[in-house]
Amino acid sequence: MSSSQKVILVLSDGLRYDAAVNGMGFLMHLVERKLASLYNVTGELPTLSRPMYESIHTGTPVIEHGIYSNSVVRRSKMPNVFQFAVEAGKTTAAAAYYWFSDLYNRAPYDRIDDREVDDANLLIQHGRFYTQDDYPDVELFATAGMLVRRYNPDYLLVHPSGMDWAGETFGSDTPEYRKTATRQDSHLANLIPEWMERGYNILVTGDHGVNADKTHGGTTPEVRYVPLFLVQPGVPGKGNTGETISMLQIAPTICKLMGLAIPETMKAPSVV
Ligand SMILES: [Zn+2]
Repeated sequence: MSSSQKVILVLSDGLRYDAAVNGMGFLMHLVERKLASLYNVTGELPTLSRPMYESIHTGTPVIEHGIYSNSVVRRSKMPNVFQFAVEAGKTTAAAAYYWFSDLYNRAPYDRIDDREVDDANLLIQHGRFYTQDDYPDVELFATAGMLVRRYNPDYLLVHPSGMDWAGETFGSDTPEYRKTATRQDSHLANLIPEWMERGYNILVTGDHGVNADKTHGGTTPEVRYVPLFLVQPGVPGKGNTGETISMLQIAPTICKLMGLAIPETMKAPSVV
């Protein structure tokens, strides 16, 4: 168990497992040098964004949390990572698509009032949100770096949409989709060493993949399997574990890393 209780979750929208393993050389270097552990994650169904955001942050399947589709626009009703962190007196932050503001701060999203928030009474206390699917990843990662330096949050969500946009625009079997993974990896290579030095546990995963038909939502391996890279400061990584875990294990893992009690609603085991 790491002595540090701070966590950064990099949730790369539309990052499928093979795109990460084949295209993300810095993250795979951390795996190869046993500074990170790599798992294959079986995503929940349906393989859609908003339902998976909620499954990842509550550790519950769609039928329990009720965010059945992308068009269910309301706040989360389930115990979730942001809520538990705030209730424990911790600081939360996110650089993310506005659907996260809907789920954990306020719904429906107001493009002007909700765009930048610094409010200890919110579940996402320091929020920086965007509404355009082609919002540049380089800007998103810079915002994440700023949130770390300025607010030193105990929990930070970093949510770039570049993979999802490239996959839905060009398809997954394209240079555009593959190159986006490598570019995200380069952005992370400029941030992860600093974050490790600052004592952060770092998780990198996806909400779903994308297929050659430029879509997702079904059940095939290319939309269902996403990676989980886990870096724990001061704790040796396991390299490529070859293990397949459930997406529902991510929320209890974050709770455990943060020293938070795991709520009864999170029934899947932590991976740490
Ligand atoms: Zn998505």
